[in-house]
Amino acid sequence: MNKDWKIETVAVQGGYEPKSGEARIMPIVQSTTFKYDSAEHVTKLFDLEEPGFFYTRLANPTNDAFEQKIAQMEGGVGALATSAGQAATTLSIFNICQAGQHFITASTLYGGTYNLFACTLPKMGIEVTFVDPEAPADEILKAFRPNTRALFAETIGNPGLNVLDFAKFSAIAQQKQVPLIIDSTFATPYLCRPFEHGANIVIHSATKYIDGHATSVGGVIVDGGNFNWDNGRYPELTEPDVSYHGLQYVKSFGPLAYIIKARVQLMRDMGMTPSPFNSFLFNHGLHTLPLRMQRHSENALAVATFLETHKSVSWVCYPGLASHPSHERATKYLPKGSSGVLTFGIKGGAEAGRKFMEATKLIALVVHVGDARSCVLHPASTTHRQLSEEQQISSGVAPDLIRLSVGIENVEDIIADIDQALSVSRR
Ligand code: PLP
Repeated sequence: MNKDWKIETVAVQGGYEPKSGEARIMPIVQSTTFKYDSAEHVTKLFDLEEPGFFYTRLANPTNDAFEQKIAQMEGGVGALATSAGQAATTLSIFNICQAGQHFITASTLYGGTYNLFACTLPKMGIEVTFVDPEAPADEILKAFRPNTRALFAETIGNPGLNVLDFAKFSAIAQQKQVPLIIDSTFATPYLCRPFEHGANIVIHSATKYIDGHATSVGGVIVDGGNFNWDNGRYPELTEPDVSYHGLQYVKSFGPLAYIIKARVQLMRDMGMTPSPFNSFLFNHGLHTLPLRMQRHSENALAVATFLETHKSVSWVCYPGLASHPSHERATKYLPKGSSGVLTFGIKGGAEAGRKFMEATKLIALVVHVGDARSCVLHPASTTHRQLSEEQQISSGVAPDLIRLSVGIENVEDIIADIDQALSVSRR
């Protein structure tokens, strides 16, 4: 790959360079295992002395092509594809945090991540503190403990749509010498460059815009290679790994230490591996990601502007609108557009919301965002249903909130559908 290629070119051409006579398109290598002629060769692969494939739980050529492309698009040093976005989040934490340790997260999170952090990880002995991302830095600093291992946040909170103050969060993480882990699912590698704003690890639910066509569940962890694990606080990366005959990740792999450990230790043991078929589809999705994100962002801004003056709507939340509290940050961190998701409050509350969602024709009621097709959801009764009302509010979900994932259809058709559904909601 030419390292000067711009992101649009990497999205199309990155991750796979066929040699003469090989398939133009990265094939789906639907094979669990790989054949070798000599035992010595296999030993070298197991000892990580040579790159190569021996078992798909650890690495597979189709998964590898997707990983390489996304790492190039993010500007990271390496990536690990996972079976779901949730697996990426879980592994990103497990890789540096164990029972008896602690991490801090912004409270404005996707409901599934909120549950993982509030309920499941504490059951495994990992303590989590939720902070208001809008709190002043000195308040967030107070949440740190001697055993704090990471700071976690979403670029654009789902579904609160607050844009992260990267300057504040990265300064806090640097001061406390912990990595900043960013879930950049809504922003995608095209709209936001977290590594340029101080992030150290980026994760995505590939299920959303990376796929873009609602075909596959998957995730990915990207390593920025820009955190000093050798600061005396991360012995799991600097000391010998007894489960890998004494491998020392930082010593052996330098800036790739974190992502290689995640693969050869955690993926080996936990097996949250994606299907090569899904990676093939993610790779296809990435080809058009820049084009789609431009269109998603343009359409969402037009829909948000339309809703802002509509008599049936009490409020609209979209970072691309000047009225949004994060608008200045959106201009700084999302200069190419604010993505396709917006939320609004419908007059008439939950009942009007139900009528609206049942009345849309082009826009489908589905538990999803990031699809080329427009979709709608009421998070309080669906994705955030398992949270208490207090937790819902702290994660940015008001009871009357309707979430629209604006697709790439013609925006006039989308607006006409919303307009007719709003008139039904008033009846
Ligand atoms: N992160 C964000 C911001 C999400 O919106 C989601 C899912 O909606 C996830 C992570 C989890 O991803 P997945 O559904 O692929 O496990």
